[in-house]
Amino acid sequence: METENLIIIGSGPSGYTAAMYAARENLAPLMISGFTKGGQLMLTTTVDNYPGFPDGIQGPDLMELMRKQAEKFGTRFVDDDVASVRLDKRPFEVVVGEKTYYSNAVIISTGASSNWMGLESEKRLIGKGVSSCATCDGFFMKGKDVIVVGGGDSAMEEALFLTKFANSVTIIHRREVFRASKIMQDKVMQNPKIKILWDCAIEEVLGKDKVEGVKLNQLKTGEKAEMKIDGIFVAIGHSPNTNFLQGQLELDVRGYIITTDEVKTKIEGVFAAGDVVDHLYRQAITAAGSGAKAAIEARSYLYQIKLV
Ligand code: NAP
Repeated sequence: METENLIIIGSGPSGYTAAMYAARENLAPLMISGFTKGGQLMLTTTVDNYPGFPDGIQGPDLMELMRKQAEKFGTRFVDDDVASVRLDKRPFEVVVGEKTYYSNAVIISTGASSNWMGLESEKRLIGKGVSSCATCDGFFMKGKDVIVVGGGDSAMEEALFLTKFANSVTIIHRREVFRASKIMQDKVMQNPKIKILWDCAIEEVLGKDKVEGVKLNQLKTGEKAEMKIDGIFVAIGHSPNTNFLQGQLELDVRGYIITTDEVKTKIEGVFAAGDVVDHLYRQAITAAGSGAKAAIEARSYLYQIKLV
């Protein structure tokens, strides 16, 4: 049975950075990068706020560069999803398809994914006017009428950003109060381009090949209405990609991994980095930083127990 020093599960900025750091320490990490490798930045266009790129860089290009850098120092990749893990055994077990990999240390960096409303019509029109990323798709809404769904800081941020392009922005929220911070709410309320529909839900997205409107349900009165719009930005939070960890690692009520000391989990030798832990900052640079920390901690752990 071959045992790896370190398996890194997930390949966003945190995973690739962890891989690069670990590979430079001659740990020859094995990364299980996921079937759709690269994480959320693969769905982004220009990234303007990653240090070192004064002219910005496309999200997928940034991820490709990170992967190359990790590979250059000796990271090996398996571009598939992890089905399950056994963290109660040593070495730890990581199951990918029919194959089980064994490792003395594991870094989990599987990130988070956008939540959707769960409508069939929404799913069908993703990329055709339905989006979860104003930063990525806002530009295409020049002079158009758009909706933002949600009442948190993300929804406020998306709505404000969209006013730069869109003719009008309507926030649809299921309650009569926002949960967003006061400062963000104030900015939204003061923006003349933004309208708000309270206590309202989208029942259906209308349009065959592109978004043309929505069917709305006024939740308090039950009144239904149709509204013509060109784009929908769904900003109803994110969920961490931790289903495969159920019963193996302590998760909070939302499914985020609970860490004891930044990147350390309660299981010695198991570390977590990036958006799978962090629901607050969720930035490429903060994820990369925590990936570096996880690799440094993994190296210390392996040295300490004399496994490398
Ligand atoms: P969030 O705070 O969890 O808000 C999600 C919003 O979506 C809530 O208003 C929720 O409604 C609504 N929602 C959830 N499921 C829904 C559904 N199925 N249909 C319709 N509406 C639904 O998520 P977030 O806005 O992404 O923020 C996540 C974290 O990042 C927060 O801590 C936030 O402060 C932080 N963040 C900060 C900034 C900033 O400071 N600039 C920017 C973005 C995010 P209810 O209110 O009724 O539950």
